[in-house]
Amino acid sequence: MTEGARVNPKSITRMQDDFDRWYVDVVLRAELADYAPVRGCMVIRPYGFALWENVQRALDDMFKRTGHENMYFPLFIPESYFLKEAEHVEGFAPEVAWVTQGGGKQLEERLAIRPTSETIICSMYADWIHSWRDLPVKINQWVNVCRWEKRTRLFLRTTEFLWQEGHTFHERDEEAADEVETMLGCYRELAEEWLAMPVIPGRKTESEKFAGARYTMSIEAMMADGWALQSGTSHHLGQNFTRAYEITYSDRDNVLQYPYGTSWGLSTRIIGAVIMAHGDDAGLILPPRVAPIQVVIVPIVRSNDPEGTALVEEAVLRIERETPPGVRVRVDRRDGIRPGEKYAHWELRGVPLRVVVGAKDLAAGNVTCVRRVDGAEQVLPLAGLAAQFPEMLAGAQQAIFDRAVAALAERSVDVATLDELIAAFAERPMFASGPFCNTHECEVKVIESVHGLTIRNLRADRQADSAPCLACGRPSEHIALMARAY
Ligand SMILES: [Zn+2]
Repeated sequence: MTEGARVNPKSITRMQDDFDRWYVDVVLRAELADYAPVRGCMVIRPYGFALWENVQRALDDMFKRTGHENMYFPLFIPESYFLKEAEHVEGFAPEVAWVTQGGGKQLEERLAIRPTSETIICSMYADWIHSWRDLPVKINQWVNVCRWEKRTRLFLRTTEFLWQEGHTFHERDEEAADEVETMLGCYRELAEEWLAMPVIPGRKTESEKFAGARYTMSIEAMMADGWALQSGTSHHLGQNFTRAYEITYSDRDNVLQYPYGTSWGLSTRIIGAVIMAHGDDAGLILPPRVAPIQVVIVPIVRSNDPEGTALVEEAVLRIERETPPGVRVRVDRRDGIRPGEKYAHWELRGVPLRVVVGAKDLAAGNVTCVRRVDGAEQVLPLAGLAAQFPEMLAGAQQAIFDRAVAALAERSVDVATLDELIAAFAERPMFASGPFCNTHECEVKVIESVHGLTIRNLRADRQADSAPCLACGRPSEHIALMARAY
């Protein structure tokens, strides 16, 4: 991807010709985002931000439902706070942006621009947690973070991005483990039920886990080119951070203890996932539950037919009036633009349902409805149409999910040996699953066997039952999910 390169205003690259180029074309032309003056940063435009807000609202409701509260920590983190958890520092050091001056003066202590907030949150909670009665702590914040990236892509990897980060502290280890599962479950619910993306949950290998975590869980989704995209992570921090930051509490027997921590995050990267999981050569395909506009109405009017035009306008007003609350409708009344151009405009933007209102159909009391996901066209009576929108949108949501499930099944393969793994990737990227002993040596063998391959996670939904590891042949417990990844 060439950053800063502008898109041809008339066409988007075909997916099969150049998937990366297709992606950038769609992001720019659908007006989701644009490049910012600072390298690696992006401007999220209103249509992209509305999509993010819908994702945010769905997820925030889940956080509240599972007993979390939102709060806010500052953007700047003193260097001394940062240095306390060694593994964490080492993991993040290359990506941190530092503020060294303020108000025209050199600062006495450098300030990190948060790449994530464990360090400052733990430092503050060391003062606020004293007793077992103060636990559990379950908080979340919706913020921007900064990670200085060398190679960036709109939404997928940007130097500054938006996300939520949840942080919790618990009395017992198992409670923290349950929290990690619960929050991964929320991400899965968001991905599957809202974003119509089937995902594979599992545990990251040691080399892929979050810096400072005991273990990391992830959900992985398949993009239209067969690559994987990590769509949310949930970490069990054990007592690593609470020990480093000296968070202690008196337990029920009045003994001083360190609580167990978790953290979990999902970012604007998920917008990139939605684009790449569902889109086609005409542009975006948005799941109705998060689409900023769910139904677009295109009135067909002709200047030489004032009578027909009046009927069309009357029908449009009726649809608007009869639309149930909560359905997001837009009428495209723009002058001087041909209907075909309007259709392409809204197809590019992924609007799930198009209703075409023209005098010819109306003469028989009908309008034409076209579904974005499969182009399915229906001529339906105007009377009672709007009341059916919720059902039609639910049908479109299901069709998008079913299509993604079929694509995932079609490009998934089980492998028993490295040779089978290599053969599976000979033609195109796949999601390969195989028994894996979870040692570092075997991970290296696996990733070196196919260019660009990574172990996405150790699947939570499948077990190896002592089948021989695909790399070393020893009995193994895990099924590794292997794919190329964004
Ligand atoms: Zn092995």
